[in-house]
Amino acid sequence: MRVLKFGGSSLADADRFLRAANIIANNADQEELAVVLSAPGKTTNKLVAIIEAALNKQDAELQIKELRNSFTGLSNEIKKELPNIQLAEFEAQVKESLDNLVEFVQGIKLLGMCPNNVNARIISKGEKVSIRLMKAVLEAKGQAAGLIDPVQYLYAKGDYLEAMVDVDVSTQNFVQSPLPKGQVHLMPGFTAGNEKGELVTLGRNGSDYSAAVLAACLRADCCEIWTDVDGVYNCDPRLVEDARLLKSLSYQEAMELSYFGASVLHPKTIAPIAQFHIPCLIKNSFNPQGAGTLIGLDTGEDNLDIKGITTLNELTMVNVSGPGMKGMVGMASRVFGAMSSAGISIVLITQSSSEYSISFCIEAANRQRAKSVLEEAFELELKDSLLEPVEFIDDVAILTLVGDGMRTSRGVASKFFTSLTQVNVNITAIAQGSSERAISAVIPEDKISKAIKACHENLFNSKHFLDLFVVGVGGVGGELVDQVARQQQKLAKKGIVIRVCALANSQGMLLDGEGLNLEHWRDRMNNASEKFSLASLSAMVQRNHIINPVLVDCTSSENVAGQYADFLQAGFHVVTPNKKANTASMAYYHQLRQVARSSRRKLMYETTVGAGLPVIENLQNLINAGDELVKFNGILSGSLSFIFGKLDEGMTLSEATKVAMENGFTEPDPRDDLSGMDVARKLLILARETGMAIELEDVVVDQALPPGFDDSGSIEEFVERLPQADAYFSEMSQKAAEEGKVLRYVGEIVDGKCRVTIAAVNEDDPLFKVKDGENALAFYSRYYQPIPLVMRGYGAGTEVTAAGVFSDVMRTLGWKLGI
Ligand code: ADP
Ligand code: ASP
Ligand code: MG
Repeated sequence: MRVLKFGGSSLADADRFLRAANIIANNADQEELAVVLSAPGKTTNKLVAIIEAALNKQDAELQIKELRNSFTGLSNEIKKELPNIQLAEFEAQVKESLDNLVEFVQGIKLLGMCPNNVNARIISKGEKVSIRLMKAVLEAKGQAAGLIDPVQYLYAKGDYLEAMVDVDVSTQNFVQSPLPKGQVHLMPGFTAGNEKGELVTLGRNGSDYSAAVLAACLRADCCEIWTDVDGVYNCDPRLVEDARLLKSLSYQEAMELSYFGASVLHPKTIAPIAQFHIPCLIKNSFNPQGAGTLIGLDTGEDNLDIKGITTLNELTMVNVSGPGMKGMVGMASRVFGAMSSAGISIVLITQSSSEYSISFCIEAANRQRAKSVLEEAFELELKDSLLEPVEFIDDVAILTLVGDGMRTSRGVASKFFTSLTQVNVNITAIAQGSSERAISAVIPEDKISKAIKACHENLFNSKHFLDLFVVGVGGVGGELVDQVARQQQKLAKKGIVIRVCALANSQGMLLDGEGLNLEHWRDRMNNASEKFSLASLSAMVQRNHIINPVLVDCTSSENVAGQYADFLQAGFHVVTPNKKANTASMAYYHQLRQVARSSRRKLMYETTVGAGLPVIENLQNLINAGDELVKFNGILSGSLSFIFGKLDEGMTLSEATKVAMENGFTEPDPRDDLSGMDVARKLLILARETGMAIELEDVVVDQALPPGFDDSGSIEEFVERLPQADAYFSEMSQKAAEEGKVLRYVGEIVDGKCRVTIAAVNEDDPLFKVKDGENALAFYSRYYQPIPLVMRGYGAGTEVTAAGVFSDVMRTLGWKLGI
């Protein structure tokens, strides 16, 4: 004998209903079957809503009509597929159920209340409809079917709405009235009968439990739970896109997983089947060929220390604390006694070792009741200040790791908590069951999706996600997007999923939380109209529960740079080649670092100096290791390196600038380079990195144009006027040449002062040979002198800069990649 249970999701429409019927019919050919059915789709929710409406004295007629229509709609659709189906009994059942519902609703409205026994009878109506329809379908297919009345067979104790089945007594019922042979036995789930022979329900989602007790009573060979997913996953597949299907679980693991929120299985399901060692198989009615998940005596072949991560939502944490609790005997029992007498179930308990407080979680719906019973139970202690006022922390959720293997493996808790830290989750309480099979953390409910994703990413060595929001998609930004598009597949093979979720420029923005398709992105960008804003990006990050959003600012905009603090605060890493933020006021400079630290996000700006050269990282490493800068000089501008290099070869300044512009070595407006401000900013960034607290105004800038040169007007006008500067430079470079020197545009840090200037350097100077767009940086430090640490290489160019930005993006993943 096997017991098969089909959930509401497997019966939600005609197609699904018929699929379930096929599975039953196919299995019935091989073995004797008992089948437990839930109500179709969301029927039970609708019935609950009808009771609510009646209690609020609202008209429920329309809702009842809708329900009637949904049942007849379902049978009509099925009839199209099975024209010979006999629906008389089903229709009579629908009529009786709904007529009776109308009467109940009138009564509830009159009384202003709904007693639990009536409530149970109402909310269990859907299951009855399901089995009548299934019986008709099976018979139409030539499969004999009979009904099991759970009120008669399953003997239950307890509340009308949360009853527990007594398996021993119920087993006897089956022994005394054996089920007839030669037919499939259909039983409505969710219900049983009490000692008075009245209908009781087994708690919401209780049909899984019905199947388990039926399997236990019949000592079935197997209990199969057919649902809408391929089995039990290590995380709720709705929350984590790459959740993994588990081949097998021990009874205990399944119990912890379902208790702590894996809604695929009702928590009460395991005990009855575990007692009789009945294997339980979770299968997908949309994919009957799939192997499913087997729940049995051992943990099986997955060989995982941690089997899953689950969440329980809509909870409130209660804190009972106060000086009077220390050493007071019976305090815990009074607290929990009060809860139990109010019928409030406790989900998780922690106690501080000083015995100064007891904290526990309850369902949020029970908050008010808990408050009043605790205040009543401890009236005196509260009055005498032996207890603090009872504290309620609302909107919390529990995140739990489950796995038999955790008993023997180390470091699981540390990874768990590190993952929570990574997504900036504040842990309210921690509990580990004495079985060591589960560790739980109570955290704010709005963080649950991010928390579960981060834990899944770190604990299951699953994929790492990097979601980029690229602002400024011209030269460097555009090249970066192209590089990402080229690398996506290679990185995916290494388990890194890199997606571009937003592309923005001053005209508009393209957004997609699942990652934009990067083919022809430039064309699509031309039609983008939505405006770039932190609010819209943040909303997307929230909506899609993105855990590693990275803002990549490839603009040179002060406005965007001014928003970094807000982006970091909102949970974005910030990667930028834009120098504006690091050269704004010292106050903002500090603020950025402080926000990045407190929100545990990274601010990466390697490419602000020396483009792709690893200048910042090396400098930071030196300083962190205790080195100190004594002196610096260097050529920090790729464009001026090019232009001044051409002067050596006898070219005029205006010619050299023209060639540089044609080759894309300069900023769009060459004055940005020639004014020296670009170099000044780079120098300032370096100086601040070494610990100097100075402002941009403190950098002395000698522009790379003759003093008093008129640099007004449009770019074209300026370029046209530039030959007027040629004589000045020819003279200077000739004079230098006579002394065996060349002109270089250098940045210097000497004696705590920053200066940008034109210098004539001789052959022995490391900068003598630096030209053609190359950068060179010479750091003289406590450890590096008299021979400086020199870095040289291309200091400009969209490709190397974009590649540098890309590597900063990768480094936001930090320790997870072992970097
Ligand atoms: P049914 O209607 O068959 O009873 P449920 O909706 O009660 O189905 O349970 C199945 C759902 O449980 C799945 O669709 C899935 O979204 C959810 N679920 C939550 N946690 C898990 C998990 N760890 N593994 C599989 N499914 C899960
Ligand atoms: N139909 C019931 C409910 O929705 C029982 C079940 O589906 O398991 O709670
Ligand atoms: Mg269910």
